[in-house]
Amino acid sequence: GVAFMDGQYLPMSEAKISVLDWGFLHSDATYDTVHVWNGRFFRLDLHLDRFFGGVERLRMKLPYDRKKIESILAACVALSGHKSAYVEMICTRGSSPAFSRDPRQAENRFMAFAIPFGSVANKEQLERGLHVAISETVRIPPTSVDPAIKNYHWLDLVKGLFDAYDVGAETALILDTNGHIAEGPGFNVFVVKDGSLRTPAFGVLPGITRQTVFDLCAEIGLSATAAGISRAELKGADEVFITSTAGGIMPVTRIDDTAIANGHVGSITRRLTDLYWQRHDDPAWS
Ligand code: PMP
Repeated sequence: GVAFMDGQYLPMSEAKISVLDWGFLHSDATYDTVHVWNGRFFRLDLHLDRFFGGVERLRMKLPYDRKKIESILAACVALSGHKSAYVEMICTRGSSPAFSRDPRQAENRFMAFAIPFGSVANKEQLERGLHVAISETVRIPPTSVDPAIKNYHWLDLVKGLFDAYDVGAETALILDTNGHIAEGPGFNVFVVKDGSLRTPAFGVLPGITRQTVFDLCAEIGLSATAAGISRAELKGADEVFITSTAGGIMPVTRIDDTAIANGHVGSITRRLTDLYWQRHDDPAWS
């Protein structure tokens, strides 16, 4: 992979930050990950909107404008030589001089990198569907003021992952403060019941892939809403799938010890997955 840092393009192994950067010390940073598929960005504008929104709400200032950032991201991909890649953009608070506690004194830093695309789920998992465990861990929104700020804080999600591995599951879903389903390590979740889709509304990152599912549903006339999902509703769903930039739409066929419906990947999940990948060839969606 190739990284961009301090005005230079570097091999990934040379891209390093100071331990005094508040991004590292306090998780005082925001980031976004977009992917490139066969040489084309997928929904880059939505990712940039979310990134710039987070930067603004954290009262940071980017050293570059949007056009320049777009060209940096494209250059990272081009220099990496990968036709399909994950591209991450990051803005951190930077370090404050003389250990000051005043974030206004720090010089904010922008960096980016492109690494090869490698879906988080393998083919076999996508065919049979994932086994997910519900962890009792409560998702603390990355910033209690605004979960829409995409942030590296993952202590709750990592705890959820260990809970899931302890019971032999492949990944985890954790809860919101009402005890409803929130999200998992790097993904949102959807249930399908009687032909309608639902995804948690509160305390979750507004995922771009989640938005893409809403957009696809609108196109093909499926109802999709954002509203609370209880543990029982999750387990009693006709279909369950999770969504992320890293993995696209991934089917879930088992929650804890319960098989979802007949334990096979559902037809609506398949249809949306097909549409999702078809859109990658559509310039209107780049
Ligand atoms: N929730 C969390 C906590 C995430 O970190 C991510 C992706 N990084 C998502 C959901 C999915 O968001 P997107 O579809 O934009 O990748």
